[in-house]
Parts: sequence; C-alpha cells; structure tokens
Amino acid sequence: MPARHLIIGGGTAGMNAMRTIREEEKERSELTLVSAEKPYSRMVLPYYLDRSIAESHVFTATAGVLAEWGVKAHLGRRAASLDTKANVCTLDDGTTIAYDDCLIATGSSPVKAPVPGADGRGVHSFWTLDECRRLIADTRPGSHVVMVGAGFIAFTILNSILARGATLTIVEIAPRILPRMIDATGADVVEAWLRKHGVTIRTDARLAHIEDVPGARGSKTIRKRLRFAKGADIVADVVIMATGIRANLEWLKGAGLRIDQGIVVDDHLRSTVPNVYAAGDVAEGRELISGASVVHAIEPTAQEHGRVVGANMAGRQVPYRGSLSMNIVEVCHLDIASFGAWDDPKAEAVTGVKSDRSAYRKLLWTGDRLTGAIIVGLSSAIWTTNDIGMLKGLVHSQVSLARFKDYLRKNPFDIKPAYIASKATSKLLPQTVLGRPSKAPGTTPVAV
Ligand SMILES: Cc1cc2nc3c(=O)[nH]c(=O)nc-3n(C[C@H](O)[C@H](O)[C@H](O)COP(=O)(O)OP(=O)(O)OC[C@H]3O[C@@H](n4cnc5c(N)ncnc54)[C@H](O)[C@@H]3O)c2cc1C
Repeated sequence: MPARHLIIGGGTAGMNAMRTIREEEKERSELTLVSAEKPYSRMVLPYYLDRSIAESHVFTATAGVLAEWGVKAHLGRRAASLDTKANVCTLDDGTTIAYDDCLIATGSSPVKAPVPGADGRGVHSFWTLDECRRLIADTRPGSHVVMVGAGFIAFTILNSILARGATLTIVEIAPRILPRMIDATGADVVEAWLRKHGVTIRTDARLAHIEDVPGARGSKTIRKRLRFAKGADIVADVVIMATGIRANLEWLKGAGLRIDQGIVVDDHLRSTVPNVYAAGDVAEGRELISGASVVHAIEPTAQEHGRVVGANMAGRQVPYRGSLSMNIVEVCHLDIASFGAWDDPKAEAVTGVKSDRSAYRKLLWTGDRLTGAIIVGLSSAIWTTNDIGMLKGLVHSQVSLARFKDYLRKNPFDIKPAYIASKATSKLLPQTVLGRPSKAPGTTPVAV
C-alpha cells in the first residue's frame, strides 16, 4: 500500500515539502493537501499592492500543477483537530483524513493591538491575499495611511503604500523604529532617511483607541481618529495594524504535541510525536549558530524546513543544520539588513556610521567569528548590496576571521578583503539543504 502523506497548510513550507516528496520518493505515495487558502506567496504581496505584478502572479501552484503532482487537494478547508493516536485529521466540515505521517505547516496570523476600535471598518492587517485586496480597495492617491507598528512587515509594504500615492504616518510603541531588527543607531539613520522622503514617524506612541470620524455632510466616507496614551490624535483614511503575528496553533489543542513558542521539533523536524512533522512559522527548531530552539518566521526558514521535511517523509534521513535569522528590506532606496545574533549583549561590537551617506555597520564578534551583523546603506551604492551578501556569508559560514579582526575593527566598511581571504564562499558552496545538488524548479515557481 502506498504511504499516505498529509500536508496541512499550502504556504511556503507546505509547497516545498510536497515538491520534495515527489522528487525524493522511490515509490509514488498518496499526497493530500489541506489548506485554508489557495497556495500563494505572502512575500510577494507588496508587489501586488504596488501593481508591479498581477494578482495571478502571487500563486505558487495552479490546480493543474497540483493535479500533475498527484495531490488530492482540500482547498478552502481548515484542519480543525488532529488525533495523533488514531492518525486522523478532522477538517472544519467534518471530513476525516487518515495518514501515515503528516506535516503541520499552518503558518501564522496577524495580531492587532488590543485597543477599542481595532476591529472597525478601515482598520486593516496585511498578511493574507484577502487583506491585500481590501487594502487596495481602500487606498487611493491622497489617502492618509497610518501604519501602527514599525517592524519588518510594516517596512515590507512601506514602498507600496507610497507608490499608491498615499501619504504615510508610522506610529510605534517602542522608542525607535524596527526594534526587533536593528539597534538604536541604525534606527536613527533609517528614521532620518524616511523623514527626508516625506514619511512622518512617531515613536513612543501607545495607541489607546480608534474611533470613526464622520465624513463631510452627505458623504459616506468614514475617517479614523487614533487616540494615544499621550500626545495629539491622528486622523487617517486608512489604518494598517502591523503589530505582530502569532503561530496558528490553536487547532492543535489536545493533539499531544509539545508546544512552546511553536511546535517543538528535533533535528529532523519531527515533533514529539514521531510521525508528525512541523515546518515554517509554526515550528520551533534549531538555530544555526547557537543551536538554541527558536521560531524564525521568515521565508528562508519555511523553504528549508519544507525541503527537509519533504525528504524525510519520502524516506530519507536528512538532518537540518539550523536556521539563520535574517531580515533584509529596502525602503525608499535605502537597504536595511540584519543577520544572526545582531542584538547579542555578550558579543564584542564594532560599529561605523557615515551619517552623510546614511550608512551604518555593526559587526558582532564572538571570539574570532562574526555571529551577527547590521548593515544600512543606499541601494544605489554598490558596496551596500555587495556587503549585505558578504556579511550574510561571513555570519552563515562562521569562518575564522582572526587575521582580519583588527582590520575590520578599524575598517567596518571594507568587508571584501576578509570575505575573500577567509574563503567563506568555498565553505558555503558545497552546503546543500538536502545533501545533494539542487535541481531546476521545472514548471513551478517553488524554489529549490
Ligand atoms: C507582506 C509580507 C511580506 C513578507 N516579506 C518577507 C520577506 O521579505 N522575507 C522573509 O523572509 N519573510 C517575509 N514574509 C514572511 C513569510 O511570508 C513567512 O515567513 C512565510 O510565508 C511562512 O511560510 P509558512 O509556510 O510557514 O506559512 P504560510 O506561508 O503563512 O502558509 C500557511 C498556510 O497554512 C494555511 N492554514 C492556516 N491554518 C490552517 C488550518 N487550520 N488548516 C489548513 N490550512 C491552514 C494558510 O491558509 C496558508 O496557506 C513576509 C510576509 C508578509 C505577510
């Protein structure tokens, strides 16, 4: 009898797992997908928002591709419970699916700030395609958009909001923008740049209440008034809450899996129930450098997790080396990136600022290795783009940089000599997620 694999969630992790199962299995298995949404990439939604791509381009698999892969798909259905003793998943319409092994890849959902009015009309989240469609309908040239939260996701849609002709105000409860991505000096550089580009920023701003402001007499338009714990109110046409995400785990109550920040997985991405795997935003797994157990809700982790789980479900024994924290975003042609343990208080930190060029570097050392880095710089400066890649490589490869430590201390803007001489590339090139060379992606846009 063919093996019965069940994939729950058709996002990045689920799609990569299915593709890998088909690549790696020796005998054709039964593959079933349950996904609340049609498979698409959340990461490309900003490009749909700013009209760079058509809606059809956000999807990662058509019904035709799923049929070609021999996947029995339950799209628009949610997994409602998992009986890990009987190996049965029950869907929200009562359908039951028996499996031999299953992958939980249900991702995360946005969380709005818990204030009165947060659920009102005109107050958006930006995480799903439906939410993207609603924001497109509500935002017009000249609209005043207030974004609550100045984190990574807010920054991924910043350019798109400006490209729609809106004016933008960002409010942030913390004393600085991007509090979980860069440090205070880096945030100062980015903030100055955004102000220069017409974005209004208010930090230390605790939102207390959102209420409707009736439009002009006879008009059906409603504006929103944001009240804060202190300081002036802000009136806006559109409010976007970019105030964090939470892993989609509620439906797993009683499933008997160990859950901490996410579903705790071992180095093969198995949960505490061996035939149940977890991947992507819902999984709490090994971090590359420290080996700590973490949730990295980022695209590269979801991709790699999906690939590793797919290979293991197909019968191989593939361990996962661990995920690297990395965030890279561009706003108004300013690149901002951080890697690894960029906020490690125990690391030895070297910094450099060139305020006139909006450039900042922070290198974090543990002994003779770079264990974290922050970089901010103009996208038009070739060294920003190159150094983002090289710094990521140095943190990722963990090569010894003993000979270059002094040099980099004095010259944090000159990464290239250390990168080349340390042979970081030759350490990284042979590394593959599945222990074999990548294959061309074929007819689907799912990354290998
Ligand atoms: C606007 C935006 C921009 C982003 N940009 C970046 C970026 O530049 N770089 C980066 O690294 N990351 C980025 N991310 C984050 C990245 O998209 C996520 O980390 C990634 O999608 C996680 O993949 P996943 O497979 O774990 O979950 P998802 O891609 O969220 O997929 C989860 C799937 O599970 C389904 N599902 C949920 N609950 C159930 C259920 N009970 N039953 C069945 N199905 C269910 C969902 O409908 C969805 O199809 C961005 C995210 C957004 C929203």
